[in-house]
Amino acid sequence: MSKRILVTGGAGFIGSHLCKRLIDDGEEVVCLDNLFTGTKKNIEELLDNHRFDFIRHDVTREFLVEVDQIYNLACPASPVKYQFDPVKTINTSVMGAINGLELAKNIKARILQASTSEVYGDPSVHPQPESYWGNVNPIGIRSCYDEGKRVAETLFFDYHRQYDVDIKVVRIFNTYGSNMSTNDGRVVSNFIVQALKGENLTIYGDGNQTRSFCFVTDLVDGMVRMMNSRDGFTGPVNLGNPAEFTMKELAQKVIELTGSKSKIIYKPLPQDDPRQRQPIIELAKKELGWEPVTDLEEGLRATIEYFRMILSDTNTLREI
Ligand code: NAD
Ligand code: UDP
Repeated sequence: MSKRILVTGGAGFIGSHLCKRLIDDGEEVVCLDNLFTGTKKNIEELLDNHRFDFIRHDVTREFLVEVDQIYNLACPASPVKYQFDPVKTINTSVMGAINGLELAKNIKARILQASTSEVYGDPSVHPQPESYWGNVNPIGIRSCYDEGKRVAETLFFDYHRQYDVDIKVVRIFNTYGSNMSTNDGRVVSNFIVQALKGENLTIYGDGNQTRSFCFVTDLVDGMVRMMNSRDGFTGPVNLGNPAEFTMKELAQKVIELTGSKSKIIYKPLPQDDPRQRQPIIELAKKELGWEPVTDLEEGLRATIEYFRMILSDTNTLREI
């Protein structure tokens, strides 16, 4: 029998892929989103499906939906977007977690939190195991996101210990793919859009900082496996692709794969920008039988195709 599943933040980049995956699996999906960074365009193909519902709502306010499972993704994830209204960002993480957990408690649903590698901050342990407690500036410009997500994890574990809520926590490392918005501000979409438009690629800092990029369909598969993992396995579990690249390498790869004549320029490094990030995924391998299968080149090719299409659509619209 199909399950009824709530996805908060379901019109966003990862959420829209998750909704599609769950519909393809035969489930019923309720997507709840305030469309701050998400868009109905991302879920357009699902809107007519009788197993799919969309609710426009803000997770900082209570909500009641009868479901079996809840994926809590609502929260802007790009530094540019989450720093736009930092107070709202922390409110979204904290009140969104409380409202989701209260719902899970009341209707006895299982709930999964989309946490982040940002809980490790600018890590002094490299690569990062789940046991690392992190190195986060509590008062910096990234703190609204990092600390909000850390409090959300705390709330998940307190609801679990205090009220026996059935929780799952995944720590997602940098993920990319289609349905990122062209003005999202994160590095993969920025570089691809700049390359396709023939603009300079903007590296912040010296470009030697690293990230490990996971393709979105791999990530979503890990999330679904985690949601359906054995009773009592709460996580937190890292989900990410351990292949680590510098931003310089990423920029060069994007230029090569797009065949662009764009040049690289250097801009100041934002405050508290983590120097390195790479997940240890042994726990996900053992508990979920999961590891990413898409390498950076394959994932970038697919993402470049997506942005080519989006940008040509935009140009056509402008001409009209
Ligand atoms: P996104 O910005 O594309 O999606 C977030 C979605 O949440 C959007 O649809 C947005 O409209 C919605 N939203 C924001 N505030 C809301 C509110 N108050 N009420 C209801 N909806 C709200 O970002 P994403 O990359 O898809 O990230 C999804 C989740 O995964 C986030 O929780 C993010 O922290 C987490 N995550 C993402 C990454 C990544 O690399 N993409 C890494 C770590 C964690
Ligand atoms: N970055 C960059 N150019 C850009 C956007 C980002 O060099 O146009 C850098 C950013 O400073 C960081 C890395 O790329 O070191 C990843 O940034 P992103 O915003 O994608 O994610 P996060 O910092 O949250 O991992």
